[in-house]
Amino acid sequence: MKTYRIATIPGDGIGKEVVPAGRQVLAALAKTSSTFNFEFEDFDWGGDYYRIHNVMMPDNGLELLRNKDAILFGSAGDPDIADHITLWGLRLKICQGFDQYANVRPTRILPGIDAPLKRCKTEDLNWVIVRENSEGEYSGVGGRVHQGHPIEAATDLSMMTRVGVERIMRFAFKLAQSRPRKLLTVITKSNAQRHAMVMWDQIAKEISTEFPDVKWDKELVDASTVRMVNRPASLDVIVATNLHADILSDLAAALAGSMGIAPTGNIDPERRYPSMFEPIHGSAFDIMGKGLANPVGTFWSAVMLLEHIGEPEAAARLMKAIEHVTANPALHTRDLGGTATTVQVTEAVCAYLAAHA
Ligand code: ATP
Ligand code: MG
Repeated sequence: MKTYRIATIPGDGIGKEVVPAGRQVLAALAKTSSTFNFEFEDFDWGGDYYRIHNVMMPDNGLELLRNKDAILFGSAGDPDIADHITLWGLRLKICQGFDQYANVRPTRILPGIDAPLKRCKTEDLNWVIVRENSEGEYSGVGGRVHQGHPIEAATDLSMMTRVGVERIMRFAFKLAQSRPRKLLTVITKSNAQRHAMVMWDQIAKEISTEFPDVKWDKELVDASTVRMVNRPASLDVIVATNLHADILSDLAAALAGSMGIAPTGNIDPERRYPSMFEPIHGSAFDIMGKGLANPVGTFWSAVMLLEHIGEPEAAARLMKAIEHVTANPALHTRDLGGTATTVQVTEAVCAYLAAHA
């Protein structure tokens, strides 16, 4: 019997509802398995922790997580605490501390979901967006001078390193190679940004020679939004910079039906450190504590977690349970136009897992 050590960090807002739901579903899965088990450890870091300790997580937080096989994360965000504190003090601290440089976001229209693209078939939209997660536009390099004076100025430099671009390109090509269509689209803006984006393009071309069986093309980020809407089937794996992928993946989530469904993984492909899986939605304080949060994004993130730790069969079983639930409108939460609660959806998934062991 293999035991996986999983850290759960609910964080803020509806993270406190969807992460326990995710843990419940993983436990239900383990209950029917004779080969693996989970040892969960829960960390109460986030806004409430900050109000007591003045930090979002303790100084030795990374040390406490280091020996875990994976992390299931909820959300960091609090209406009473500045965004840069909640974001940089917890989620990004873990992403950077564990060099989770590949942010992976699968997008599919699940059965029973009413998605906005009426002109395409459900199966036309089946993407994985790979977001560079460690540098680029969000590298934090910049400054602000002469505040309050007429000559005030500020910069945010997009810093791209050769090592950083090479490793994300290699990851994306490898991922494309592992999928049936072997198709990769590299998003760029090298027509307007003539330094870093030109290097980005150049390195894509260099890395492509290592993957002769992958068909790849380049697309300008602005044009790619039109292509996602008009020709979704022309895309499969998409690799983009930190900022570009941030925006494109929200568009992708909306095209797939709801923010509440979409999952993501912050991956250290070299497996030096634990990787972290989370729904893409935020803390959504407007619906917190009401039982309205859709837990499907967290469940799908748990599927990614299972694939990552090396349990693909369990991952496939959980994905089937999720699809069983989304196919039933009586089990849709409010964001999907239904009236089901977080608890009802969670119990339905657990019941399906127990019945289909
Ligand atoms: P943050 O500041 O942490 O990003 P947010 O309040 O901006 O959080 P988002 O997660 O960005 O919230 O979501 C925007 C809105 O979408 C929420 O206010 C909520 O109404 C809805 N929403 C998001 N996630 C879910 C979910 N899992 N289930 C139901 N509704 C959701
Ligand atoms: Mg938000």
